[in-house]
Amino acid sequence: MGRYTESVCRLCRREGIRLYLKGDRCYSDKCAIERRSYPPGEHGQSRRSKVSPYGQQLREKQKARRIYGVMERQFRNYFKKASKKQGVTGEILLQLLETRLDNLVYRLGIAPSRNAARQLVKHGHVVVNGRRADIPSYHVRPGDTISVRENSKKLDYIKEAVANRRRTEMQGWLSFDEKDMSGVLLQIPSREDIPVPVQEQLIVELYSK
Ligand code: SF4
Repeated sequence: MGRYTESVCRLCRREGIRLYLKGDRCYSDKCAIERRSYPPGEHGQSRRSKVSPYGQQLREKQKARRIYGVMERQFRNYFKKASKKQGVTGEILLQLLETRLDNLVYRLGIAPSRNAARQLVKHGHVVVNGRRADIPSYHVRPGDTISVRENSKKLDYIKEAVANRRRTEMQGWLSFDEKDMSGVLLQIPSREDIPVPVQEQLIVELYSK
């Protein structure tokens, strides 16, 4: 199955919350959730509101997948990896997703959305510890430095994103040097430091059946 190519706003409307998939528009009153807060489709406004426990688990998994822009198989692999580690599986799952390179490029404010971050990485505009890293799922480790490639620092698109980055989204587990356009993953974030509206325990229950 290929990557989702329809309007991403439909995904937010389906989940009933802002997933922040479009960058600056998501913070404005042009956000589709503001204008049409019901699910998309012909029966969107008349759909039953009662959801089964399985349905809830499924929705949480879909929400997390959509926020991080990860395909089903890859998402399941993250779960398998998380369940083999010691600790709370749901939290580890989110930590694995958070330490993807595309997510961190977004969190640092180098790109306005995860999708835009993925494109920057794929096109070779990002380096990790001074080395080119063009795989969006690249696993970043504490102490790693993520920077904009020297030649790419002058690109208007990147300069604009960095100038407009939302400082409120900067977490204590990341640092960023705006002048140098580079940031460091200081530590693995704990669950409280991960601002995603997902009930990860329901995802664990879904995959543990
Ligand atoms: Fe979601 Fe952003 Fe579209 Fe709003 S503008 S519905 S937050 S993708």
